[in-house]
Amino acid sequence: MRQTVRANPAECTGCGACVSVCPKGAVSMKPDREGFLYPAVDAALCVGCDLCEKRCPAGKAQQAACKPAAFGVRDVRDDVRAASSSGGVFTALAESVLSRGGAVFGAVFGDDFKVEHVGAVSRDGIRPMRGSKYVQSDAASALADVQDLLSRDIPVLFTGTPCQVAGLYALLGKGRPGGLLTADFICHGVPSPGVFAAYLDALQKQQGSSLVDYSFRDKRLGWKDFSAAARFADGTEHTGTQTTEPFLRGFLKNLYLRPSCHACTDLRYGGHAADLTIADLWGAKDVFPDWDDDKGLSLVFANTPAGQRALDACASLERRAIGDVSVLRRANPSIFQPAAANPHRAKFWNAFHKHGFSEELVERCLRETRTEAAVKRIRRIPAALIRRTRSLLGR
Ligand SMILES: Cc1cc2nc3c(=O)[nH]c(=O)nc-3n(C[C@H](O)[C@H](O)[C@H](O)COP(=O)(O)OP(=O)(O)OC[C@H]3O[C@@H](n4cnc5c(N)ncnc54)[C@H](O)[C@@H]3O)c2cc1C
Ligand code: SF4
Ligand code: SF4
Repeated sequence: MRQTVRANPAECTGCGACVSVCPKGAVSMKPDREGFLYPAVDAALCVGCDLCEKRCPAGKAQQAACKPAAFGVRDVRDDVRAASSSGGVFTALAESVLSRGGAVFGAVFGDDFKVEHVGAVSRDGIRPMRGSKYVQSDAASALADVQDLLSRDIPVLFTGTPCQVAGLYALLGKGRPGGLLTADFICHGVPSPGVFAAYLDALQKQQGSSLVDYSFRDKRLGWKDFSAAARFADGTEHTGTQTTEPFLRGFLKNLYLRPSCHACTDLRYGGHAADLTIADLWGAKDVFPDWDDDKGLSLVFANTPAGQRALDACASLERRAIGDVSVLRRANPSIFQPAAANPHRAKFWNAFHKHGFSEELVERCLRETRTEAAVKRIRRIPAALIRRTRSLLGR
């Protein structure tokens, strides 16, 4: 009998679909040494039907490649944009589904700031889903809940990473249920829940108070230079921007992303399984300079006719077509390709397992990456040029 689902666990995205696919309830998700969830199979329950592996979506093309319609989008309500990561598209889509008596699924901070997927049927319920949480969320039980609601003809909006949406379709089997709308995002990759928990522990010790609220996308300094903001029980606050906050820096420099993220090539432009893909319109100044007010703009791909219809139905959204998405490649490379692992990833984990999370550890790993890049640049200078410079300096 099997012990896990994928022969090569590095391919597993942790979507959680196999937990509900298994007819015997033999699969559950367990954290590995890096704190990422992987399926574990209870050999006493497994009957060897192999359904979990057969239905696993990892590494399988999700739908015929398409050329999605691309738009710059913003909600006309400034308060919605202020509370959202980019232009507030998630809120508009969610409100539209709620108004039809539907349910919305998204990622929230649960107990101890663990990130998990939950369902909601009210405007109050969708509020905690707003805001990107740069940590892998646990969506396994939410996928089963979506399946259950759809079987009862309740409309559902499911939002999540591209691989979670692919996992949902894998669980549902062939075809796309009419009552289901899906939205994923352009995905840089998901950081380790274990590192995030250790980072929050260190932050609480440093502050001498317990955490009551956390945001990865605080827009008080603007959309582009977004901050992480932590609020504590004693009324104090700790903030730091994407260029100063150690957890965000390690995330953006790929020190502790899930291994499968570095090989995630299919769930990109033209290959997303979701009806809609939402993202930050990084590079807005090059396409819509008059819209670039630093309050947040979204980039949206309508990947399917159902996605296009859902976007059309959102009265609070303003949008402009983007003809050529390739102009955004520099500002938002994840549209087209996965992030490469930081060369010091293994070193980070060795030290993390011994000493835990610290700003000093992240900085040490990133400093060495910068030094190596400088050495590489020097190595690329032609030898003749170096000789000539030396001889000029020698004169
Ligand atoms: C891990 C991660 C990496 C990302 N990488 C990029 C990138 O490289 N380039 C880019 O342009 N955009 C990226 N995004 C998307 C971007 O940050 C915004 O989520 C997107 O622009 C939607 O903005 P909004 O204003 O409509 O959404 P908001 O109102 O802020 O809603 C956030 C949405 O994201 C979902 N969500 C939040 N955290 C998670 C999570 N951990 N797992 C699954 N779903 C989650 C919520 O359920 C909700 O649907 C990333 C998001 C995440 C979570
Ligand atoms: S179904 Fe998802 S969680 Fe299960 S093995 Fe495949 S990728 Fe991993
Ligand atoms: S980069 Fe790919 S594998 Fe990683 S979380 Fe995003 S969609 Fe999933």
